[in-house]
Amino acid sequence: MAKYRGPVCRLCRREGEKLFLKGSRCMTEKCAIERRSYPPGQHGQGRPRISDYSLQLREKQKLRRIYGLQERQFRGMFERAERQAGVTGESLLRLLECRLDNVVYRLGFGSSRKEARQLVNHGHVLLNGRRTNIPGAIVKVGDVVEIRPKSRSLVSVLAALEAVDGRGIPEWLELDRVAFKGTVRALPTKEQIGLPVNEQMVVELYSR
Ligand code: SF4
Repeated sequence: MAKYRGPVCRLCRREGEKLFLKGSRCMTEKCAIERRSYPPGQHGQGRPRISDYSLQLREKQKLRRIYGLQERQFRGMFERAERQAGVTGESLLRLLECRLDNVVYRLGFGSSRKEARQLVNHGHVLLNGRRTNIPGAIVKVGDVVEIRPKSRSLVSVLAALEAVDGRGIPEWLELDRVAFKGTVRALPTKEQIGLPVNEQMVVELYSR
């Protein structure tokens, strides 16, 4: 499926809740969900058709959109989660959460996952001291993620770090603000990830 290039607020409206795709704007009254909390399109205010399939599909789309993945990448993650020991849904959440771009976002170096991904793509991020431009790299316990010294004065990074207190740093990560450096202390649990998604429904959808 082609990359979605339309307005991202439309994606939140489609899912009926805030997916926090736009950084600081999501915290203001300009948020589209605050203003028009019904689905977009001509039939947005009509009566929705509800089936098991549509519920499962919505949960999958929500999760995929939160992490900004295309269907093929998301499916690949699911297959990888299936190969891991343990509960597939929780493995999927953990894998998504351990993506490098998400870790950069969670540490507060980017105000949204999209911005964090751009930082990685443009080579502003070091993983264990080495420049890494693969947003989908999966971090492990003990890995160190930092902003490259030359990039520490980037206005977007400084602004994002200033705003991170609003959402907080998750327990499984440790941030050294002065050194622009974060460490993965543990793998995240489902509770620490804390997303409004029923991952079991995603498993059911792909098991059809
Ligand atoms: Fe979603 Fe943020 Fe847009 Fe609100 S402002 S609709 S949370 S992307």
